[in-house]
Amino acid sequence: MGKLHVKVAVIGAGMAGLVAARELRREGHRAVVFKRADDVGGTWLYDPRVESDLLGLDPGRDVVHASMYWSLRVNLARQLMGYSDYPFLKKGCGDSRDFPGHEEVLWFLRGFAEDFGLVELIRFGHEVVRVERAVEGGRDQWAVEWRRRGGEEAAAGVDVFEAVVVCNGKYTQPKIAEFPGRSTWQGEQLHSHNYRVPKLYKNKIACAKENGKLVFQDESSMYADVIIHCTGYRYHYPFLKMEGLVCVDNNRVGPLYEHVFPPSLAPWLSFIGIPYPTFPAQLSELQSKWVAKVLSGELVLPSEEEMMSSVQEHYQRIEELGWPKHCTHKLEIGKFEYENWLADRLGLPSLEQWREKLALIGLEMLKSSDGNWKDTWDVDKWMQEEGFGKQSLNRS
Ligand SMILES: Cc1cc2nc3c(=O)[nH]c(=O)nc-3n(C[C@H](O)[C@H](O)[C@H](O)COP(=O)(O)OP(=O)(O)OC[C@H]3O[C@@H](n4cnc5c(N)ncnc54)[C@H](O)[C@@H]3O)c2cc1C
Repeated sequence: MGKLHVKVAVIGAGMAGLVAARELRREGHRAVVFKRADDVGGTWLYDPRVESDLLGLDPGRDVVHASMYWSLRVNLARQLMGYSDYPFLKKGCGDSRDFPGHEEVLWFLRGFAEDFGLVELIRFGHEVVRVERAVEGGRDQWAVEWRRRGGEEAAAGVDVFEAVVVCNGKYTQPKIAEFPGRSTWQGEQLHSHNYRVPKLYKNKIACAKENGKLVFQDESSMYADVIIHCTGYRYHYPFLKMEGLVCVDNNRVGPLYEHVFPPSLAPWLSFIGIPYPTFPAQLSELQSKWVAKVLSGELVLPSEEEMMSSVQEHYQRIEELGWPKHCTHKLEIGKFEYENWLADRLGLPSLEQWREKLALIGLEMLKSSDGNWKDTWDVDKWMQEEGFGKQSLNRS
């Protein structure tokens, strides 16, 4: 039997959505990418705006997608941030540091979109507001409702697809710390999602006010003007109307077979980029290849029952590790089992040793007290000394 080619909606054009579009097209599918912003890049598209509700509690607020702050430099060496056949190379111009500023990643993603002709697949400024199963011509399909804001160009519509790949990112919906007195405290509070530049906080830590007293669990106290909640994010899919078939419960998106396919809707609905910590570009690429090949029929998923029992086994494993439910999509550091499992499904070699080693050393550096490690560590030199060589940058 020949390959099946389907019409697929991809939601998002960040690191995950772009590579999903490429892999779907490579496999012969017709991909349409919906992108809320007017440029590619997702998280890496720095936006100086902050939301009207700095804690992100108001569901009616205008959402700013990116959580990027102005001074951010990557914390994963650029050697680990590229795709398998499209490394994040140092160029003659721009920021050639091993740990460059955020703008360099945006340029990298723009280059990727252009070099693979992905821009023509993207509907910029189109926010997806509803994804729902729809029966069309007797076939089970997906209704994707979108809206485009902005003056004369404002528009809305519904398109029908055979499959939907969700790549909307996981660092937009703030998770805040709840503690007694949080909502009545008089000082300023924000989530790190709405942090952009430090100058607003200059000289704050210098003056204490009586009504700004904070008491911690160990009964120590301090005075503060501002509480910044650096407490992470929630998986959030406001557009999915799934009648309980997939839901987010305490940051567990489920049920999902291997973090990608809801068993009862597979392979027609899938999610890219959910697990962490990992190499986001490589993981998205592997998951996208898997989705594209399952949709075409080149790879076959287990039965729905088998996928459900695999999900249950995974939940069991999380419990055995002593991890709370909200860690369902956390990968065990240093094992790379999930990435290699995906590679194995695809008939690709396991991650190269240098990637694993570099990632682990990077982690140690992050934990170290040396605040200058991003500038003092010469990663290329380290690769040479370890015998990995520069050619390792290109996997294929
Ligand atoms: C502060 C910060 C620092 C980071 N540092 C690093 C680092 O150093 N190295 C690293 O590798 N990773 C880092 N990351 C992780 C980063 O998230 C990934 O690198 C990568 O950007 C994830 O890509 P993504 O496509 O999954 O999500 P995103 O980049 O968030 O893209 C999601 C896309 O979905 C679109 N979208 C969302 N909702 C809708 C909708 N309803 N309709 C249409 N479009 C929609 C958005 O517009 C966006 O284009 C960092 C993340 C943050 C927040």
